[in-house]
Amino acid sequence: MAKLTVEDLPLEGKKVLMRVDFNVPIKDGVVGDDNRIVAALPTIKYVIEHGGRAILFSHLGRVKMEEDKPGLSMRPVAERLSNLLNKPVTFVPVTEGKQLEDAIDNMNNGDVLLVQNTRYEDVKDGKYVKRESGNDPELGKYWASLGDVFINDAFGTAHRKHASNVGIATNMPGKAAAGYLMEKEIKFLGNAVDDPQRPFIAILGGAKVSDKIGVIDHLLDKADKIIIGGGMAYTFYAAKGIKVGNSLVEKDKIDVAKEILDKAGDKLVLPVDNVVADKFNNDANTKVVEGDIDDGWMALDIGPKTIKLYEDVLKDAKTVVWNGPMGVFEMSNFAKGTLEIGKFLGTLDDATTIVGGGDSTAAVKQLGVADKLTHISTGGGASLTYLEGKTLPGIAAISEK
Ligand code: AMP
Repeated sequence: MAKLTVEDLPLEGKKVLMRVDFNVPIKDGVVGDDNRIVAALPTIKYVIEHGGRAILFSHLGRVKMEEDKPGLSMRPVAERLSNLLNKPVTFVPVTEGKQLEDAIDNMNNGDVLLVQNTRYEDVKDGKYVKRESGNDPELGKYWASLGDVFINDAFGTAHRKHASNVGIATNMPGKAAAGYLMEKEIKFLGNAVDDPQRPFIAILGGAKVSDKIGVIDHLLDKADKIIIGGGMAYTFYAAKGIKVGNSLVEKDKIDVAKEILDKAGDKLVLPVDNVVADKFNNDANTKVVEGDIDDGWMALDIGPKTIKLYEDVLKDAKTVVWNGPMGVFEMSNFAKGTLEIGKFLGTLDDATTIVGGGDSTAAVKQLGVADKLTHISTGGGASLTYLEGKTLPGIAAISEK
């Protein structure tokens, strides 16, 4: 990768603006799952251990009106970060103005400061003005003026053009670098798609084919095989004239599915059997059927023959990218397909196995197979954008080496 990284920047005595992803769940003023804060620690620690003054920016939730603000304050995050770093973290409850500027002026080398939720800028005087999420040019310029260099470690928002990522970076030419997390994402997802070790197999699942058409299209040119599972498989069934019963089908996407099938030939691998249920419920009556699905039944997971078939396709893979579950994994009776594929990927010692964020990440974590895989992406939307072969504005704005 040709992007500047944190280790390329001068840090000693510098005001280091950092975009991190602290978009964590908060309940009653307390941080729940702090994985994202923990994930940002290596870059923050590197900066402060090298004498930088770390000035952290993140968004938290969506701010659409003044009333959203109190519940989406970054204060609880500052407290948790302080505990994790075992040192004080200055929290500044505003996103601009004298209070912020003075707090930055008062910092010493190695200090850490957290700015209020960047999306507070989306609402001014009760109006939804989207200064942060609309990348208001004045805001990016102002934030950039507060520091000497910029580090973007928030992959999860890299597919969005916001003031706190693109705005700051474009106002600091030559001084915007990727943090460790960002660097890792670019390395794994970038290499997988642009320069994969072969065979390169993609596994695509999840509810809707409409969300993944861009990805399928792009990966058809890149991957050796694309394995399809989850609800989207049944739109392909419909396109092939296989009966789908009450399974999830996007009728307006059947034509697109036909085009993809024509283009793909035997590159696209579809389920040969399915676990079907008589209602969308874990207590439903179930059976395994091959091919046609009768009315009154819906496919909620791939069947045992399909699991075997997919394992066979995957067994010699050198690169695997997985996005989207193979069935309704949230219900235990329909989690087997996702679980077995995840477990099998964990046994592929010679392969780079990458999970592309969002629901697939939730699935491998919930099913306990995450630690056997090479890379679990932190960004759902961002990793999909990557897999579609599109430029991510947040990454494009990082300076080249
Ligand atoms: P996505 O966000 O597109 O990755 O989709 C994930 C969602 O797809 C999960 O909530 C799954 O429960 C759902 N899903 C997976 N397979 C099926 C299926 N066969 N029928 C309905 N929903 C499904």
